Amino acid sequence: MDGFLFTNNLSVHTSKHKKMKNGISRHRSAEFTNVYRNQQRWKVIEEDEFEPGECSCCKGKIRLMAGCIENEFEEVEADYWLRIPEGHKGIYTIAVSLDNGDHRRVAVMRGESGKDGLTYWIQSKDQSPWENFGKYGDVMDIDEVLGDIYKSLFFDVVDKVAADDPRLQSQIR
Ligand SMILES: [Zn+2]
Repeated sequence: MDGFLFTNNLSVHTSKHKKMKNGISRHRSAEFTNVYRNQQRWKVIEEDEFEPGECSCCKGKIRLMAGCIENEFEEVEADYWLRIPEGHKGIYTIAVSLDNGDHRRVAVMRGESGKDGLTYWIQSKDQSPWENFGKYGDVMDIDEVLGDIYKSLFFDVVDKVAADDPRLQSQIR
């Protein structure tokens, strides 16, 4: 795990999605929600906290942790990982692994808390601070996330984690 990835060119540059170049706000991400799910009954389960990293720019602690979301039947809907650079208030990175559809795959997003609430920036493979998630799937590129039929679910998971994982709260409030 190397230093905090501080790129500002995280925009979505594909022709179809040029208008998203300012990121996708928490509010707007709701537009992608077209799959009915009983998400009121989703539960965030905190899992391991790993050995922290150190930010290459400010030497601040980078907290690394895992969690999952369970549905009302106590089945895992998604696994996720958080990377919280304490020296950079308001910013974190989240990786979400889904196995809906025919294969496991991981979307990596950077969350940014600002006056308009949270904005998520889908990270390309190159921008992802994680290289590989083993059996949880390969890191997807921006186009793959946007083209995924379960795209809305990735955003639902990051919203739920931002709302309910207590370990993230001090970073984004
Ligand atoms: Zn730093």
